[in-house]
Amino acid sequence: MDFHDSPSEAAFRADAKAFLDAHAPEKLGDYWSDDQSQEEVFAQHRAFQQTLAAHGFGAITWPEAFGGRGLGPIEQIIWNEELARRGLSGSLFTVGIGMAGPTIIAHGTDEQKQRYLAPLLSADEIWCQLFSEPGAGSDLAGLATRAVRDDDDWVVNGQKIWSSGAHYSDFGILIARTDPSVPKHQGITYFLLDMKTPGIEVRPTIEMTGDSHFNEVFFSDVRVPDAMRIGEVGAGWGITQTTLMHERMAMGGIEGMLSFDDLREFVLAHGGRIDGVLRDEMARLYGWLKSLQLLNARVVTKLGRGEMPTAESSVMKLAIARIMTKAADVALRAAGPEALARRGYWQNQFLFSPAWHIAGGTDEIQKNVAAERVLGLPRDADPSRELPFEDLQRQ
Ligand SMILES: Cc1cc2nc3c(=O)[nH]c(=O)nc-3n(C[C@H](O)[C@H](O)[C@H](O)COP(=O)(O)OP(=O)(O)OC[C@H]3O[C@@H](n4cnc5c(N)ncnc54)[C@H](O)[C@@H]3O)c2cc1C
Repeated sequence: MDFHDSPSEAAFRADAKAFLDAHAPEKLGDYWSDDQSQEEVFAQHRAFQQTLAAHGFGAITWPEAFGGRGLGPIEQIIWNEELARRGLSGSLFTVGIGMAGPTIIAHGTDEQKQRYLAPLLSADEIWCQLFSEPGAGSDLAGLATRAVRDDDDWVVNGQKIWSSGAHYSDFGILIARTDPSVPKHQGITYFLLDMKTPGIEVRPTIEMTGDSHFNEVFFSDVRVPDAMRIGEVGAGWGITQTTLMHERMAMGGIEGMLSFDDLREFVLAHGGRIDGVLRDEMARLYGWLKSLQLLNARVVTKLGRGEMPTAESSVMKLAIARIMTKAADVALRAAGPEALARRGYWQNQFLFSPAWHIAGGTDEIQKNVAAERVLGLPRDADPSRELPFEDLQRQ
């Protein structure tokens, strides 16, 4: 395992640091906190993204021809680390820049790239991901939203759920079933969707944080021009894999989510409650964090050799969920009843922590991947893979 930057990585890190020293704001507002209005936070994030885009730091892995920096996943990790060091992680534009953009670049037509990439990079147009459905999350290929061809359009009917940010998004990446007569992975097509199209209803869901991060999105005879289809009809599952691969990268590492120093300061500020149990939990958390950093170094080393991490990403995702949950728990135990009196960062983290175990693939699914790829255990049998989708629905 190599813990050091190569000369070219060190040069990129130095460029990134110099740029951020010169141009980064002190702080970026938290969309989910009560300290500022959501409009103000949005404007701050957009202004920062526009500064990044203007200096070629808006999308590290996009090709230079589309305004990116043309670098690889290691430089993306370095960039994420430098943002995290300054407390500037948590962009509101991750779905667009980290997921929709790379998918359009990989599979879109020249016209689609021309139309969508520039406003996406400048955050003038915001994107959401319309994949999960009430009956299709872990088994995403079981999705039932239908798109039926009608002249130059597709007519979409169905429902999505957990669509983060759909209530403030201009566009969505949508997968829908276009052929139910073939097995479930084969009859899916990938579309871009203008969220202002008639027939789309976005219903925010209120979470226990009191916020509405997610939405239900309903489609009633929504007409999507064929020009907004990405890739071939029926080839959507493969294109979805491109999006999901970039999603894992866009989610970033633990450093952007948790600062152990901030947690320690918070706990020390509530010093009256520090006892043996809390000390033990802090020490355990520190150990987990250090182990995760070692795993991260292994992933970076693999990427540096041109290999793709697979099971490591699943184990990292499991560890991140566990660490975030434990950190919020420790913070609230240190704060005691005072934690109930106001809404702050750790209160939000505590209420949000179940989501870490679900978003981007549940704990159980990550364990399945680790069981298959690390332990070599057999894959779960899935007879539904071979049957026409319409026959599954009848069962
Ligand atoms: C914070 C957050 C943001 C999200 N944002 C988006 C978004 O923007 N767009 C979007 O499309 N989706 C989004 N999602 C949805 C997310 O991708 C799904 O919630 C996730 O894939 C799980 O699917 P599900 O909720 O349908 O659970 P299910 O798949 O129904 O799972 C229910 C339970 O069964 C278990 N289970 C399922 N299959 C297996 C198996 N084979 N083996 C063992 N256990 C299994 C699961 O682990 C889970 O405990 C978001 C979710 C969260 C929490």
